[in-house]
Amino acid sequence: MVDLKNWLNQQREKDGLRSLRTVSHRGKGHLTLAGDDRELIDFSSNDYLALAEHPALISAAQNALNQYGTGSGASRLMSGDLAVHHELEEAVAQLKSKEAALTFGSGYMANAGIIPALVGRHDLIFSDRLNHASIHDGCRLSGAHLVRFRHNDLNHLEDLLKEKQGHGPALIVVESIYSMDGDRCPLRELVALKERFGCLLMVDEAHGTGVFGPNGGGVIEEDGVSTGVDLAMGTFGKALGSYGAYVAGSAEMMEYLLNRARSFIFSTALPPAVAAASLAAVQLVRAEPSLRRELHEKIALFKTLLRTGGYSGDLGPSQIIPVLIGESGAALHKVELLRAQGIFATAVRPPTVPDGTARLRFSITRHHSIADLSQAAKALLEIME
Ligand SMILES: *Cc1c(COP(=O)(O)O)cnc(C)c1O
Repeated sequence: MVDLKNWLNQQREKDGLRSLRTVSHRGKGHLTLAGDDRELIDFSSNDYLALAEHPALISAAQNALNQYGTGSGASRLMSGDLAVHHELEEAVAQLKSKEAALTFGSGYMANAGIIPALVGRHDLIFSDRLNHASIHDGCRLSGAHLVRFRHNDLNHLEDLLKEKQGHGPALIVVESIYSMDGDRCPLRELVALKERFGCLLMVDEAHGTGVFGPNGGGVIEEDGVSTGVDLAMGTFGKALGSYGAYVAGSAEMMEYLLNRARSFIFSTALPPAVAAASLAAVQLVRAEPSLRRELHEKIALFKTLLRTGGYSGDLGPSQIIPVLIGESGAALHKVELLRAQGIFATAVRPPTVPDGTARLRFSITRHHSIADLSQAAKALLEIME
């Protein structure tokens, strides 16, 4: 049994204790924390396309609320299965160029349900070392033999695939855009590899969907590898401005998961208003590429401001921009310095990232104005001196 007091004290001593910060007001990419009247520019949100406040999502949710009420009342397999869930799944399947899709309560639940449905004790999983905790937990829950390869290192993956060949069927799991570093998986090479070794491939596009691809179909669309990805998973809670998650794939795969993924079977269906907002977001992302264009212009501007200001670290290829600091205490101190200058960014610390690589994470959203981005770049350059 854990000794609570002792554990908490130890964490406190190494700057590892987490706590909640209540946001008392939020809107248009700015926020105010409870007990502090300063308005801060929010660089911590994953609402990349600023859809959470979009009128199309709000009215879709309001209409669904009026029509169906708040909760869905039961799991999909009982009486919670509404037309809006199916419309959403059809729209997602189309967005991902797949036959079918299935929704889940959240991304965590999707990963914790899908992976154990597909692999078990006699199988292998090859998982990127920086994969999200929900993927890792799904892997552990499955009981399969877990082989973790070095982050984005396909040579390492290939060596491991060779070494383990003949040890059973294998699933490879990656993210398209990594949530903490913002870097991108080389999906074309990965698909070639998975085909050579006859593995199943699952790609988590929590940070890719809506942001990349000509129609917002994610990195798998941009890289033209939809066919080679067996399970295209993602969430509605980030660029899509809503909540929940999905996986897209073959109709057969969806029929199987509907019967086997325990987090789908034994959990209440997404509330209709939430599903309706997600549906509106998927439609908007396809219909309005200008949302994406605007976001990418802002990302490019922020990176240019940092570069011209003399910052020489790696800023990565996406809307998630990591600024490496080192120790947790130093990262927390920089967060405070930024806050004093009106900037809200978060420190990402171990155990989320490896020891000694605590960092600040800036995520750019469509809400940010040129003035916001300039102010943030200036503040960041100052505190890095
Ligand atoms: C956020 C995230 C999840 C979890 O999704 P939720 O809907 O927030 O539970 C899963 N995978 C990745 C890569 C994520 O970034």
